[in-house]
Amino acid sequence: MSARRTIRTIPQERTPMPTQPASERARNFDEVALGYRYEDARREAERCILCPQKPCSGACPVGIDIPGFIARASEEDWRGAYDILSEATLLPSICGRVCPQETQCEAVCVVGDHLEPVAIGRLERFVGDMAIEKGWAPSVDVEPAGRRVAVVGAGPAGLACAADMARAGCDVTVFEALHRPGGVLSYGIPEFRLPREVVDAEFGRLQGLGVTVECNTLVGRLFSVDELRDEMGFDAVFVGTGAGFPAFMGIPGEALNDVLSANEFLTRRNLLRAGSAGADTPLRVGRRGVVIGAGNTAMDALRTAVRLGAEEVRCLYRRSRAECPARAEELVHAEEEGVIFSWLTSPVEILGDEQSNVRAVRCVRMDLGEPDASGRRRPVAVPESEHEIETDMVIFAIGTNANPILRQTSRLASNDRGYLVTDVDGRTSQAGVFAGGDIVTGAATVIQAMGAGRRAADAMKAYLGITGPEERDLSDPSRPRMFGIDERQRPFRRLRIA
Ligand code: FAD
Ligand code: SF4
Repeated sequence: MSARRTIRTIPQERTPMPTQPASERARNFDEVALGYRYEDARREAERCILCPQKPCSGACPVGIDIPGFIARASEEDWRGAYDILSEATLLPSICGRVCPQETQCEAVCVVGDHLEPVAIGRLERFVGDMAIEKGWAPSVDVEPAGRRVAVVGAGPAGLACAADMARAGCDVTVFEALHRPGGVLSYGIPEFRLPREVVDAEFGRLQGLGVTVECNTLVGRLFSVDELRDEMGFDAVFVGTGAGFPAFMGIPGEALNDVLSANEFLTRRNLLRAGSAGADTPLRVGRRGVVIGAGNTAMDALRTAVRLGAEEVRCLYRRSRAECPARAEELVHAEEEGVIFSWLTSPVEILGDEQSNVRAVRCVRMDLGEPDASGRRRPVAVPESEHEIETDMVIFAIGTNANPILRQTSRLASNDRGYLVTDVDGRTSQAGVFAGGDIVTGAATVIQAMGAGRRAADAMKAYLGITGPEERDLSDPSRPRMFGIDERQRPFRRLRIA
């Protein structure tokens, strides 16, 4: 390793991400951010001063050894960098693309106190993409534990839990309602942000662990969680069904034609290919579209509408740009692609024509008052500020709720908002049933869902009496590396079945 790096000696500018020009990308679904080239990644890796206290790792929900992987990257030991990443994350290419790094690891990066923080996510993506290209996968060393585990929901939470339990030697089956695994990564986030090949490649590694994925299986209708455990022979169950149930505002006009939720709009485009020529479920996008909300989901819906040919696409948000909850990069990209933002604007009614098609949204202007429980300034309607915005389509992206099916068909305790109640390790009110991800926390992030899946897997192993031996020589550099949690637990071996 070269001489010790300091803020003065490292490259001062953050390496920019090459992107498709806005005028071109607004007309195609190809990936917007093209990814670092080799030289970009090498240069950016040199910006990390490798601080021993690793605040960035502490701010990562799965605790990636960030300076560890960046140190390997700056030595051009890319395989070594990947091995360190894959000890903590199943999905580096995905998380490198969609994690809100600016509020997690990059928010606490020491370099960020003086310069722009190290582009940790971009480096993670570079290494993850190289692993896909080269066909690298963590090696597997699994001793059968003689236990069967069911995972309900193939989103990031379920798949992270499935990987850890497979690695612990369990026979794991994932039941997924849709025809594709991935959860929001497949049905929600569009290809221009997260190409399908990347999702397929990273999830394909699960198959290498021997996990079985049963798609088109709606648990709670075909069979219940109780049946999985009591009659179908599973020793433990993890529930990671997400929070995909759309929310509306309850304003007049929501039943008009071409009023829909962002989840429906995005699912129809991403999973059912609506919008492509000859699609079985065509998606009608008018000349003008309005999206209500300004989170990541809203940005995806806005930018998808632009790409599907709407001439004027507008975002309505009741707070100001400063409070916009979307990832900063997505907001900037949406602006560059021509989305119009009506900040401090809240809809009060959707207006239709004589055929019950949407024709306009009646809105009021808002002011920001005192901070509310979220710490953000509360929007307050400005008197006599009503006005109409003409539109052919209204998409609600104001958040989601828990799907009620499992709550209605199991004895799992839930809170008054319908989310499953668990302890910090994901244990539900039913012995042997664990839960994590959006179905517990409400809408959160990919990496938080993965972290919850992994914590629940830990608790599940303890419940099943599966513990890892500490007696193997962990200093042996040739020891197999897997989706590890920490040194003490790697590699797993069944010691005792309770
Ligand atoms: P999900 O990803 O929702 O997966 C749950 C899975 O369970 C689904 O596949 C569902 O079909 C399945 N399921 C549900 N019920 C059943 C049942 N009864 N039986 C069988 N299967 C069932 N986060 C970020 O970090 N960065 C982003 O940029 C980002 N963008 C987003 C964009 C959109 C449009 C949306 C909707 C969310 C976004 N998020 C983003 C949030 C993130 O995707 C979620 O927090 C994360 O996917 C939650 O993971 P999960 O595993 O809990 O649930
Ligand atoms: Fe590197 Fe920033 Fe993490 Fe320090 S905080 S180790 S500079 S990425």
